[in-house]
Amino acid sequence: MSSYDYDLFVIGGGSGGVRGARVAASLGKKVAIAEEYRYGGTCVIRGCVPKKLFVYASQFHEHFEDAAGFGWTVGESSFDWKKLVAAKDVEIARLEGLYKKGLAGANAEILETRAELVDAHTVRLVKTGQTVTAKTIVIATGGRPNPHAALPGHELCISSNEAFHLEELPKSIVIAGGGYIAVEFANIFHGLGVETTLIYRGAEILSRFDEDLRRGLHEAMVAKGIRILCHDMLQKVSKGEDGGLILETLNSGTLQAGVVMLALGRDPNTEGLGLEAAGVAVDERGAVIVDEYSRTNVENIYALGDVTNRVQLTPVAIHEAMCFIETEYKNNPTRPDYELIPTAVFSQPEIGTVGLSEEEAGKRYGELEVYRAQFRPLKATLSGRAERMIMKLIVDAASRKVVGAHILGHDAGEMAQLLGITLKAGCTKDDFDRTMALHPTAAEELVTMYAPSYRIRDGKRL
Ligand code: NDP
Repeated sequence: MSSYDYDLFVIGGGSGGVRGARVAASLGKKVAIAEEYRYGGTCVIRGCVPKKLFVYASQFHEHFEDAAGFGWTVGESSFDWKKLVAAKDVEIARLEGLYKKGLAGANAEILETRAELVDAHTVRLVKTGQTVTAKTIVIATGGRPNPHAALPGHELCISSNEAFHLEELPKSIVIAGGGYIAVEFANIFHGLGVETTLIYRGAEILSRFDEDLRRGLHEAMVAKGIRILCHDMLQKVSKGEDGGLILETLNSGTLQAGVVMLALGRDPNTEGLGLEAAGVAVDERGAVIVDEYSRTNVENIYALGDVTNRVQLTPVAIHEAMCFIETEYKNNPTRPDYELIPTAVFSQPEIGTVGLSEEEAGKRYGELEVYRAQFRPLKATLSGRAERMIMKLIVDAASRKVVGAHILGHDAGEMAQLLGITLKAGCTKDDFDRTMALHPTAAEELVTMYAPSYRIRDGKRL
């Protein structure tokens, strides 16, 4: 046994921290983990999981409408926001319990306190003032919404954190941003009956996604009744006489809303963490700088997940934690693999994607074949819903490898997870072609697009 109190001390009980602590403890290491708020972190407590539950809730009114086309008469429906929030809270508490149970089962010590670094091997437990030492320390404190402090009236706005606990559902909401969170919440609030406006500074929402999907989703959202103001920004938010909010915008004049939500990116949680005392370097955004193995500039301190400003996704933080375990405890230095991460935007319709967008692939490959299908899914025929699915495969003409797959439509996220395996395995378009279609599904379109829709040479469409 070393002279330290612990082999490993993890600061932060989110996806990355809990995984690292649990697996290290299960290997027989003496581990403690500290969390100042609730175990589960952003993903479980105020991110992916409650968001997805809200997405499900927001889809029901369309299900009720669609039912008529299939012969059903659905009685009068109504929605109870408080009931949804309470049910969601019960589920989140259950999941939080499971996280703790997993840690306890592996014999990790669970501390419910903020923890701050005193030096490279010492941590202060803020609740008691006690200091403890550890051979290895992992910083996994995650991130938080950027408050956009430069915006006059930003303190009157909410972030996604508060969106999960609103006392009442507002009549109207303006959401600023054009990324995952802004787009997902615009669809959630609209689906729950809130008059919704999205305001985004760029030319088209979801800047890093394939152009076809961005445009397709934009059109679908507008067709549902969501107002999208591109090339625009909030300039000022103030309180109106009736208690509502008044918003001054750059290009769309004055708007009014019950609630304004800012979804303008997230900042790493490094303030007051004692990083300076421990000698840990951060970048200009305050994110912990790490090498390819998640190690900071201080030999025995690692950092995982959103606090490092790499790819802000739960499975990535978990993967980084597993690589840390290999590197530190299994004598098998392992770099996280960021190639071909499948991702979904849980908008309505959904986006599921893996690999390069047409635009990115055009910069990397001399010649591309683009296979593109746009069609009305079978379910929409009887429901009469005017929705279109888009499926797109981007193929490197020289190697025949599928380098990007993009879907807009129902279950796109589920499909993207499986497409992730095929792209990771390096499947070619010929592999897709010789795969039997599964009929009738929407996904069969992915293996029945025989001729390229068009080609791209040197970045230009032929
Ligand atoms: P994103 O980075 O996705 O989007 C931030 C948005 O804010 C962009 O549209 C950006 O515009 C805009 N923006 C940033 N700064 C300003 C500014 N000063 N003024 C005006 N607009 C600004 O961040 P999110 O907050 O939506 O989400 C954070 C991360 O969480 C995501 O990157 C994602 O990794 C993860 N996430 C994943 C989800 C999923 O997997 N389904 C769901 C939710 C979050 P521009 O595009 O022009 O830069």
